[in-house]
Amino acid sequence: MKTILSTWDRPGQVAIEAASKMSKGGGSLLDILEAGLAASEDYPELVAIGRGSIPNSEGRIQLDASIMTGDTLECGAVCGMEDVLPAISVARKVMTETDHVMLCGEGARNFAISQGYAPQNLHTADSCRRYSEFAAQDEKRKDYVHTVDDGVPTHDTVTVLGVENGKCAAASSTSGLAFKLPGRVGDSPIVGAGIYADDLAGAAGATGWGEELWKTAASFRVVEGLRRGLTPQESCEEVITSMVRRRPEATKYPSVVLAVGLDGSWGAACCFRAFDMWVLQDGLPVKHHFEPVI
Ligand code: ASP
Repeated sequence: MKTILSTWDRPGQVAIEAASKMSKGGGSLLDILEAGLAASEDYPELVAIGRGSIPNSEGRIQLDASIMTGDTLECGAVCGMEDVLPAISVARKVMTETDHVMLCGEGARNFAISQGYAPQNLHTADSCRRYSEFAAQDEKRKDYVHTVDDGVPTHDTVTVLGVENGKCAAASSTSGLAFKLPGRVGDSPIVGAGIYADDLAGAAGATGWGEELWKTAASFRVVEGLRRGLTPQESCEEVITSMVRRRPEATKYPSVVLAVGLDGSWGAACCFRAFDMWVLQDGLPVKHHFEPVI
């Protein structure tokens, strides 16, 4: 049996539908996760991933993505990459075509071009308008918006997990926090923070306030919980609860961890705000809702 998870409501749906299509076409687990994220990246209405996403404080769209396979622990990532889609495919190329785990900024962009990806303008009319509105604000307000969630829709980061026949994988793609400082990188491309997968335990991922999820090494810790025998739900709740106990300020912004066990069991937990995600099992995508655990 195959189980695929993808985060958030609309972006998760775009990802799960593309993942489902790839799954029906017989793609591998990595193909399925990559197809899901590539579709979300190319969907201009989603504001925190790929084309048309919210840019950084200088108006540049800088993308982060990562992918990891649980059988060999091989992984690849890009961060701060401009002008190239799908970032997740470039991350996978870093994994398969280099001896490295991560390429950043100009290096990632050049590598992508060397792999045949043509640079393109990722801005849309909406992303330009959002940036103009941001740029017109006073400086104090500008400092505020990229660190605090005030209801502006910014959570379209898609983190996907998959397991099939005891083998697991994880991947994530994002433009990061809205109007972030140029060069800022969050948890999503960081193996151990934004994703982790190990066929000896299971796979986990995160989305939300990247700085806090990174400080707590969220995804690695969730997988370690699975290794200790916790269920995916128990492990996710343990990590979110302990993150918030250790750093109470982490509740100022939504954060989520999700996990899948080698048997296809799955779970998720969040803080600050409710969270929706999609689960594909038996070929059927179903949306699930989570209330904050703390
Ligand atoms: N975790 C992402 C970041 O901090 C953002 C998100 O998931 O909404 O870059």
